[in-house]
Amino acid sequence: MPAPDDRLIDLHVHTTASDGTLAPGECVALAARLGLAAIAITDHDTVAGNAPALARGAELGFEVVPGVEISTSYQGVAIHLLGYYPAAEAAGLEALLAEVREGRRERNPRILGKLAELGCPVDAEEVAQEAGGEVVGRPHIAAVMIRRGYVASLQEAFDRYLARGAPAYVERRKASPAEAIATLRGAGAVPVLAHPAASGFRDPRQAEPMVGAFVDLGLRGIEAHYTGHTQADVALYSRLARTYGLVVTGGSDFHGETKPEIQMGRGLGSMRVPAHLLSLLKHEHRRLAAG
Ligand code: AMP
Ligand code: FE
Ligand code: FE
Ligand code: ZN
Repeated sequence: MPAPDDRLIDLHVHTTASDGTLAPGECVALAARLGLAAIAITDHDTVAGNAPALARGAELGFEVVPGVEISTSYQGVAIHLLGYYPAAEAAGLEALLAEVREGRRERNPRILGKLAELGCPVDAEEVAQEAGGEVVGRPHIAAVMIRRGYVASLQEAFDRYLARGAPAYVERRKASPAEAIATLRGAGAVPVLAHPAASGFRDPRQAEPMVGAFVDLGLRGIEAHYTGHTQADVALYSRLARTYGLVVTGGSDFHGETKPEIQMGRGLGSMRVPAHLLSLLKHEHRRLAAG
């Protein structure tokens, strides 16, 4: 049995409640099997996976951190914000998440309309079945496109059709970072900037003003360790976290078979998120709760 602090954690995991392919309980069981010290559930725009994951964690004696990942738009760029330990009954958070999910539901038929015009008809009912939950998004459309033989992979579906700038792309309503951060704080959650380098902010001259602006809005952490982050990215965002007194977090963005190359706890193989970072996150959560 290794000392607890030698173990790894993964604070960014998607389940079937959003666009992952493992159920919340299955994610927890996998994490326990892998010997991780803890995982956080961070589904897109829903907290529905938290309760079943926490229940499974209690059964297995495995630590589960409840969380959420909110899609926002900042200067026209998609920026994701993670929130850790949202209160289970936070009405303001649930209202914001419902609004974001509604934005997706309004957009999806328009994407399917464009796909049909492009010679790739996709049935809305099949997409809803693929999603199986309240979050229905482009990865689910992509999965049906693969099954229909229009594309060979999720990446091809995005590159040729679904990504911003591709012919079937349709913009959807998104929250602002200010709204997301304030709402997370109102729900008692610790707001953390998700994978900033992977979102395109790799240049310190752009990263620093963004982090500074978000700190003014109430941001309390940065996901410096991430599957798509280079050592330089990790160093940049660890430095910015120190400068602004933020906690450093990290996670793989595990999605199961939606993104089969990503391993829980390891990303593409080299990501390592040490367990002691969770103590700092919990400390920050308690600090915010104490006011
Ligand atoms: P949606 O919520 O419907 O806008 O879809 C967003 C999800 O699609 C993200 O969570 C990613 O998992 C995935 N995604 C977005 N852009 C890309 C891309 N360019 N390549 C692959 N996956 C993407
Ligand atoms: Fe996703
Ligand atoms: Fe994300
Ligand atoms: Zn994610």
